[in-house]
Amino acid sequence: MVSEAPETSQALSEVLEDLRRHLLWQEEDGGRFLQMDARLAAEARAARLRAPAAAAPTPVAARPAPAAAPAPVAARPAPPRALAPPVVAPAPVPVLLTPQALSGGDRPTLDEVRRELGDCRRCKLCTGRKNIVFGTGNPRAELVFVGEGPGESEDLQGVPFVGAAGQLLTKMIEAMGYRRDDIYICNVVKCRPPGNRNPEPDEVAACEPFLRAQLKAIQPKAIVALGKFAAQTLLRDTTPITRLRGTWREYEGIQLMPTFHPAYLLRQPAEKRKAWEDLQQVMKFFGKPTGPRG
Ligand code: URA
Repeated sequence: MVSEAPETSQALSEVLEDLRRHLLWQEEDGGRFLQMDARLAAEARAARLRAPAAAAPTPVAARPAPAAAPAPVAARPAPPRALAPPVVAPAPVPVLLTPQALSGGDRPTLDEVRRELGDCRRCKLCTGRKNIVFGTGNPRAELVFVGEGPGESEDLQGVPFVGAAGQLLTKMIEAMGYRRDDIYICNVVKCRPPGNRNPEPDEVAACEPFLRAQLKAIQPKAIVALGKFAAQTLLRDTTPITRLRGTWREYEGIQLMPTFHPAYLLRQPAEKRKAWEDLQQVMKFFGKPTGPRG
C-alpha cells in the first residue's frame, strides 16, 4: 500500500476543513447547489495539489483588479488602544452629544451614542416602529458587521439580525471562527422601514451620523458591509454591490469589505460562494486559518 506524503495529507485535511466551514452556513437549500459547488471546488483544489507549480487562476477579466489586500492585523503594530494604561478615573460623561459633535474629533462611547439617539423622532420611520434597533455585541469588537435596517423580528425584539437573514448571518460569523458576542452588529437605519421596503434617502441621512458615531466608538480593525445600503452609505459610493463586493476599501482608516446581504443570499444561494470568498479575505486579514485557498 502506498502511504500519502505528510504534506499531501495535511493539504487534504485543510481542504476538508475549509469545506466543512463553508457547508456550515450553506445548507438552507438542502445542500443541492452546495454539494455541487463543494465538489467542484474540491476537484479544483485536488488538481492544484497534483500540480503545485501550476500558475495561479487567471482573474476574471470583467471584474476590476482588486485593491491590494491590507496587511494582516497580526503584522501591524498594536493599536494605541491596546497600549493605553488602564483608565482609573473616567472623565465625566457629557449628557447630550449632537450628531455634529458625534461626527467631530472626539471618540464617544457606545452608551453616549445610544443616549444621544434617545427616543428618536428624526425621521418618519419612528411612527411605525416597535423598538429602536441600535446594535448588539462587543463594544470593543475588532470586527463590525453593518446591515441595512431592522425587519419584523428585529423590530419586535430590538436586536439586529435575529430573523431568517440573521440566522444565516450567525452561521456565516461562526464559520469565520467568531461567536456573535465577539463582534458587533448594527444597521444603517435603526428603525424598521414599513413592509421591509428599502430605507429612503432622508431616513438614511437622519440615521447615518449615529452609525458613524457607533463605528467611531468601537474603532474596529475591519468592517463587513452587508449589501448595497451599508456599503454605499459608508463609502459614499453608488457603485452597485455586485461590483463593490470582494474588494477591500477604506472607511475612515478602517478596512471595509463589502459583500452580499444575507437576505439576498437566502434568495440567491448560488451567490454564497462569492460571499464566503469575501469573508475568507476578512479571516485572512485577521490571521484566521482559511484553508489552502485562503
Ligand atoms: N436585515 C438587515 O439589514 N438588518 C437586520 O437587522 C435584519 C435584516
